[in-house]
Amino acid sequence: MRIKRLEILGFKSFVEKVSFDFTEGITAIVGPNGCGKSNVVDAIRWVMGEQSAKNLRGRQMEDVIFGGSEFRKPLGMAEVSLVFSTEDGRVPARYLDYSEIQVTRRLYRDGTSEYYLNKTPCRLLDISELFMDTGVGARAYSIIEQGRIGMILLAKPEERRFLIEEAAGVTKFKSRKQVALKK
Ligand code: ATP
Ligand code: MG
Repeated sequence: MRIKRLEILGFKSFVEKVSFDFTEGITAIVGPNGCGKSNVVDAIRWVMGEQSAKNLRGRQMEDVIFGGSEFRKPLGMAEVSLVFSTEDGRVPARYLDYSEIQVTRRLYRDGTSEYYLNKTPCRLLDISELFMDTGVGARAYSIIEQGRIGMILLAKPEERRFLIEEAAGVTKFKSRKQVALKK
């Protein structure tokens, strides 16, 4: 699964709709301090299902909605879409017929949130399942932020095991087992 495009509207400092195209090869995002580089990474993490405001550098989840500036009023909603290409075939079988997979998350100020897969409303669980065992996802190792390598090296063995299980492809089965045991 390769990221093709990221669309951001009303998320953190991105008040108007912006679209980032990720072509083949390496993409670098550069800019002065405070211009929103880390907010782009936060948007990717958020759309993949991050539930912790702290991991998104905020106090509460509503902090991800554009909060206004000197010249602009706050917005009432944040929306991020992440589009993956399915060309490499490394996607769940039910998506093989689609040329891309679009994951969308929306949050309103009243706390209502919505998730979509290819523009069809879905549950957070469906999005988490899509990413499980791919190495992609809010908690997986596809996003390595400052200090993360040190954290992995210093982590307890059982914490590090999480990364190995994700790479080995057993996360999905463990998660399903947990759901089944609860029923
Ligand atoms: P650095 O190079 O210092 O790491 P950066 O490019 O990573 O900077 P970010 O941390 O992505 O910068 O962006 C910080 C900016 O985003 C700040 O100006 C902050 O005010 C703004 N910001 C964060 N959340 C919101 C929000 N909810 N509404 C409006 N602006 C926001
Ligand atoms: Mg930064």
